[in-house]
Amino acid sequence: SRQLVWLRNDLRIHDNTALAAAAAKGPVIAVFLRTVPQWQAHGHGINKIDFWARGVAAVKESLDGLNITLLHRDIDHFGEAPATLLDIAREHHIDQLHFNVEYPLNEQRRDHAVINAFKQAEIPAHGYHDGVAFAPGTLLTGKGDYYGVFTPFSNAWHKHITPEQLALRDTPDVQSPLAINSDPLPALPSFDESPVDKQQWPAGEQAAGDRLERFLRFRGRHYNAQRDFPKVRGTSELSPYLALGMISPRQCFQAVMGENDGHLADGDKGLTTWVSELIWREFYQHVAVGFPQVCRHQPFQAHTQQLAWRDDHDGFQAWCEGRTGYPLVDAAMRQLVTTGWMHNRLRMVTAMFLSKHLLIDWRWGEAFFLRHLVDGEFCANNGGWQWAASTGTDAAPYFRIFNPTTQSTRFDPDGEFIAHWLPELAALPAKARHAPPRDMLTKLDYPAPIVDHKAARQRALEAFKALSN
Ligand code: FAD
Repeated sequence: SRQLVWLRNDLRIHDNTALAAAAAKGPVIAVFLRTVPQWQAHGHGINKIDFWARGVAAVKESLDGLNITLLHRDIDHFGEAPATLLDIAREHHIDQLHFNVEYPLNEQRRDHAVINAFKQAEIPAHGYHDGVAFAPGTLLTGKGDYYGVFTPFSNAWHKHITPEQLALRDTPDVQSPLAINSDPLPALPSFDESPVDKQQWPAGEQAAGDRLERFLRFRGRHYNAQRDFPKVRGTSELSPYLALGMISPRQCFQAVMGENDGHLADGDKGLTTWVSELIWREFYQHVAVGFPQVCRHQPFQAHTQQLAWRDDHDGFQAWCEGRTGYPLVDAAMRQLVTTGWMHNRLRMVTAMFLSKHLLIDWRWGEAFFLRHLVDGEFCANNGGWQWAASTGTDAAPYFRIFNPTTQSTRFDPDGEFIAHWLPELAALPAKARHAPPRDMLTKLDYPAPIVDHKAARQRALEAFKALSN
């Protein structure tokens, strides 16, 4: 009895719930539906799409090793998924369909449509919860609501987690070859922009596993102390791999437990803090299901919908191009555009700068990030932006507005990160890099701050105060 596995954001053969379940039932055929126009409509740019394509090529190689055929189809939008999959199921006499579910609203709708179409065709279709330890809706507050605050969510996660939830799923055995050839993988359509350096983000589960191992061996125990300093590279840089499922959270948890006497919540502070970041990731996936307004471009906190954002296109352009006159903000934006990735501390700093100092709608920034990030992922990106803009879960209280210069002296004390991304400031003494002297700006060819911190802060406070709760 032939099984069809529909791969999406789970581009791996190890610890893949849907793949393991399918392989337990019979010979497997896999399929990938490349949906470039839909991904673009969702705001993803070339960096992520290119990484996606390279991830499919990598998983194809792994599937080849198991004699699992990979079919590849190009479709324009999610609406075409049910018919495309049904055609394949009929052509190849498939008994059952298996896939790992995704949680943003449009993906859920697509999956429901597929399940319904298969029901009508009387072919069982199974969706599995794979990228989270708890299926959304199974970890709720005492009142039976979804958590809207991280710490109680995380406490409940640790309290209820079981070894079964963390156990790695079986890797399929090599199967007897089927008489169906894999499809060649077509080149990507051409884009206006080119992707960032591919060497920086080698795709596939081997690369992801190597990264995890290196991180845990050399940096995991220092994570707590180093994770806020962008120049140190103290974090795992696994986000693109987690976003496309080239590695699973279970593999990460298991690796931590291997280093930490079997614990996730106790023991080494660096490792347990890192675990808590993985739980943040899961939290935002639950939020997307429990509070679907966030998937409709709406704030988590409804009253902030009325906020009087400024329609400041010049300010936005300066932010995008790293020309705000605040060196840490500008260095971070250049890191994003050049590498497709930005350090978490700087995502917070730049997002807060846009939404508070410039009082520009966080949705503009959310979209810009998504267009450039190689790890662009709706739930984490939306959650992070709404946090920074004080419209979301756990939102930073609106009156706590990072001072970008203070952030710079705290987290890039020697101005090394700034000097790397803003070579025009590298000749300045370290201390001066955080706020270059005004009389040197012309010579340095660096802009003056586009807003004054104090005045901008006041403007943001007033805009938030004007909201009725
Ligand atoms: P590590 O510190 O090594 O953390 C391990 C993993 O935990 C990450 O790979 C990621 O999967 C997860 N994680 C860590 N922090 C968070 C968080 N705050 N929220 C959710 N998951 C987290 N992360 C994305 O994966 N995609 C995004 O599109 C994204 N957009 C963001 C936008 C803003 C405005 C902010 C403030 C944060 C955003 N994040 C996003 C979260 C976080 O910044 C990145 O996950 C992190 O910087 C990735 O680097 P890392 O892999 O070295 O993380």
